[in-house]
Amino acid sequence: MRLSRYFMPTLREAPADAQIVSHQLMLRAGLIRQEAAGIYAWLPLGLKVLKKIEQVVREEMNRAGAVEILMPTLQLADLWRESGRYDDYGEEMLRIKDRHERDLLYGPTAEEVVTDIFRSYIKSYKDLPKNLYNIQWKFRDERRPRFGVMRGREFLMKDAYSFDIDEASARRSYNRMFLAYLNVYARLGLKAIPVRADTGPIGGDLSHEFIILAETGESEVFAHRDLVEMGAPGPDIDWDGDLQPLVEQRTRLYAASDEMHDQARFEAEAAEGDRMTARGIEVGHIFYFGEKYSKPMKALVTGPDGKDVPVQMGSYGVGVSRLVAAIIEASHDDAGIVWPDSVAPFGAAILNLRVGDAGCDAACEQAYKALTAAGVDPLYDDRDDRPGAKFAATDLVGIPWQLVVGPKGLADGVVELKRRATGERQSLPLDAALKAITG
Ligand code: ATP
Ligand code: MG
Repeated sequence: MRLSRYFMPTLREAPADAQIVSHQLMLRAGLIRQEAAGIYAWLPLGLKVLKKIEQVVREEMNRAGAVEILMPTLQLADLWRESGRYDDYGEEMLRIKDRHERDLLYGPTAEEVVTDIFRSYIKSYKDLPKNLYNIQWKFRDERRPRFGVMRGREFLMKDAYSFDIDEASARRSYNRMFLAYLNVYARLGLKAIPVRADTGPIGGDLSHEFIILAETGESEVFAHRDLVEMGAPGPDIDWDGDLQPLVEQRTRLYAASDEMHDQARFEAEAAEGDRMTARGIEVGHIFYFGEKYSKPMKALVTGPDGKDVPVQMGSYGVGVSRLVAAIIEASHDDAGIVWPDSVAPFGAAILNLRVGDAGCDAACEQAYKALTAAGVDPLYDDRDDRPGAKFAATDLVGIPWQLVVGPKGLADGVVELKRRATGERQSLPLDAALKAITG
């Protein structure tokens, strides 16, 4: 992409009401624009990052055996009356009437819709397990939308729903999601801690929130330090095998959010030096809830013994749009955003320090062609602007590689290559610089 033709409206200063760094940087780097409280337009750079995160989530869901569908944003109130949640959900639900005076709502989540889909087609344990997911916009009329897309009213969520014949099988489905989530966050360059979460009336141990450490986070977490440093399981695990040991390795260490925290247990299970208390951002939540929806909505399956039983369900949410902000909270410096390679909006930036100079223009064109052909997706700053402005904008938007082409360097046969994350700079011939980027 040539910057002269692109739309990247960067701002010198963040609006005063942006309180946390990710919100400030998302506005300054031209990722989003607020349209109403908690409702945002995604500008080109922000949209690219959002789509990349979405794709990482999708790939890991597919790998773990989940199947993608797309459910509507507008849902019938009648389905929610069946589950009993239409009245319970309260003011976070945006209620709408169509021209026939039918009650609709903008989905804050999709248990009812997916249960309705399931019960229409699946009747036998032989067709289980199933895990259906979608990546779709949700609306919750949050009392205090704030921190930009961190707590929006309209936000993008990946929500998966598992269906199993019994609790043992549901635990296997849960384990797959538990480990897949860790792989998602690792690919996004994040350290996510799975913490025990409230299971409500159903009890048991099958509810976890995934928390990214950040001072601006809304959650408080208490965890054994070893858990923070424990890596993700990686993609090459046997998804159909016994995942319980991998899960136990990560659930036996103490970790709880504020609502579940038990200080006495924490002190008993972790030595003083191992105890970590920090603030964090909830970027995912997985939950087994058994028959909560299948029973009232009569989603029954015939078991091996010929008897019909309500299907056992779980749901698994990732805050896709919240992750854009969470990644920035975890990865930025004074100059701006530092995107991990996996979600960077462009793979490299080419900075032409003297547009109109035949040598600079030719070298930049050559780099642009080569990087495009190699699939790096470069952003070429071909605007006639001051070098200082170009450096600042490129740092701000956080592109991982910066290839700086100026007349002085070219006279010596070199360009400058800067790695955004480390600030490390190298002067080297153009060919070598291109090789360093393409790997
Ligand atoms: P929170 O406690 O932050 O309100 P929640 O418990 O309501 O979250 P879930 O219903 O479990 O959230 O939704 C799954 C994921 O969706 C959350 O882990 C979070 O990452 C994301 N999410 C929830 N509410 C919002 C919101 N208002 N804006 C952006 N992302 C959200
Ligand atoms: Mg909420």
